[in-house]
Amino acid sequence: MNYIFAVDLGGTTVKMGIFNKDKEILEKWEIPTRTIEGGKYILPDIAASFDEHMDMHRLSRTDVIGIGIGVPGPVDASGVVNKCVNLGWGVFNIVKTMWDLTGLPVKAGNDATLAALGETRMGSGMGYTNTLMVTLGTGVGGGIIINNNVVHGSTGSAGEIGHICVNQLEEDTCSCGKKGCLEQYASATGLVRCYKKLSAHEKAASTLSELEKVEAKDIFDAAKFGDEIANKLVDQCCMYLGQALAAVACVTNPEAILIGGGVSRAGSILPERIQPYFEKYAFHACRKVDFKLATLGNDAGICGAASLFL
Ligand SMILES: [Zn+2]
Repeated sequence: MNYIFAVDLGGTTVKMGIFNKDKEILEKWEIPTRTIEGGKYILPDIAASFDEHMDMHRLSRTDVIGIGIGVPGPVDASGVVNKCVNLGWGVFNIVKTMWDLTGLPVKAGNDATLAALGETRMGSGMGYTNTLMVTLGTGVGGGIIINNNVVHGSTGSAGEIGHICVNQLEEDTCSCGKKGCLEQYASATGLVRCYKKLSAHEKAASTLSELEKVEAKDIFDAAKFGDEIANKLVDQCCMYLGQALAAVACVTNPEAILIGGGVSRAGSILPERIQPYFEKYAFHACRKVDFKLATLGNDAGICGAASLFL
C-alpha cells in the first residue's frame, strides 16, 4: 500500500499520474478523452490505462492506496457527479462506477477544487492551511481549502468563483446563462470579449489593433508596455477579481490567495494589480492575505487528486 493513482479529467485529454506516499510523481501521462456516446468509454479507458501502467511498474492492486479523480463539473462529497456537459455525462456516482471497474478505493472532487488542494499541499500554497485558489483559464474556476481540507459544498459547487455576479449592468450573457459573472471579464475568453467591445468605440490608438487575432496574452503583454486600451482591460479584469475575491474572503478568511490557470502566466502583473482592489473591498480583518502565483501549472489537478489520499 504505497502508491496513489491520480486523474485530472479534461474535455480533450485525461491527465494521469502515479504518486508515492512522499508526494513524488513516479510517472505522468495523458490519454485522449473519448466523449462519444455520452462519454461511456472515459472511465473504462482510465481503468485500462492504469492496468497497463501497473504492469509496467510491476505493481499489484495491494500496492495501491486508491484513485483520486478530478472532474470538470460539480461532484459532491459522496462522488455523485451532477452533469459534466463537456464530457457528455449526466448524473451518476463516479466513486461507485470506478470502484466497480478497478476494485480500488476511489475519491473524487471538482477539478478546480482539487487544483486548489494540490497547489496548497504541494505548490505555492505549501505552509498555509487556509487558502483560496482562483483558476483563470478559458473560464474562471476556484477552490476553497479550510483547515487543510477541501470544501465541496452540498452539491459539489463550492468555490465557483467565476459565476459570482460582479456587474449587475452587464447585458451580455455568460456561458452559465446569467449576466455579469466574473468569468465574463477575467477569463481568457472574457478578456478578449471585453477587448472587442471596447475597441469598437474607443478612439485611443492601441498596438492591439495591429494584430489579426487578439488573445488574452497579447492584452497582458501590451499592458506591460504601457498600452492604454490594454491597461484599461487589465485594470477592469483585476478590479472585478479583487471585488469577487474580497467577497469570498469575507466568508472563508484565507491566509493566501493563489492565482493559477493559463492566464496566470501573465505573471506578477496579476497579483500586483489585484491586491490593491482586494484591499479596497475586503473587510479589515480579512484584508491581510498573501497573493501568490500558482507554481504547479498543469500538474495541480493530479497533485490535488493524489492529495485526497495523502
Ligand atoms: Zn456565469
